[in-house]
Amino acid sequence: MSRRKDFEPSTNRERRAEILKTALKMNEVGLNQGSAGNVSLRIGDFTENNGFMVTPSGIPYDECTVDDMVPMTMEGLWSGKMKPSSEWKFHRDIYKDRPDVNAVIHTHSTFATTIACLGKDIPAFHYMVAVAGGRNIRCAPYHTFGSQELSDATVKALLRRKACLLGNHGMIVTGPNLKKALAMAVEVEELCEMYWRTLQVGGGNMIDDEEMGRVLVKFQTYGQFAPPMENDEDEYRPKLDPRKTHNPKVSLPKMRR
Ligand SMILES: [Zn+2]
Repeated sequence: MSRRKDFEPSTNRERRAEILKTALKMNEVGLNQGSAGNVSLRIGDFTENNGFMVTPSGIPYDECTVDDMVPMTMEGLWSGKMKPSSEWKFHRDIYKDRPDVNAVIHTHSTFATTIACLGKDIPAFHYMVAVAGGRNIRCAPYHTFGSQELSDATVKALLRRKACLLGNHGMIVTGPNLKKALAMAVEVEELCEMYWRTLQVGGGNMIDDEEMGRVLVKFQTYGQFAPPMENDEDEYRPKLDPRKTHNPKVSLPKMRR
């Protein structure tokens, strides 16, 4: 990772504000404490000028200003006075792998992290598990924070999903924008609390595959978690149409090595 100085277009100011607002909201709704989690937003237009903007490393969000948000290229170059979150790699790799994703939120929220510390996928104990795009929400195996291994495991756990847990670490959610990603984070945390509670009394009844298939089909047609989906064998994945999902109005400043 190397540092560079540059200017950026004024349109990115709005994106900086949006990221900081989401990070603060994450603390406000109890999903995060201090500077543990991180938030990013895709910026760029799928040309050589594409990238993303991420929260800075190690500063409590209530002490941050919009100027502290860090623009980055897909190559890991960054600009500004602050270092990017030490966990920027999985943000970058999710954007690389998933053209349908424009926003990524990572938290160490209590219940999601509790389940992640048990190394458990969230099974179909409740039909709302399908909001994440499949019959379960996977838990990626543990790897050191900030490592490429963790990033690779995250991308794999997110296959055909909008959320996953990170073993002994926390959760990651994705979305077409920050508002939907935050709503997804709240939803996953709530599911984890409910699942944890069922585990206290011997575990709940599971919904069978056929019924979860019906729920997944219904989720394609209504509700706030209903992006366009398509059948992919027995799973479901978002339709990948970057022309519709990215925001072409904003772009990164010209990046130099
Ligand atoms: Zn983390």
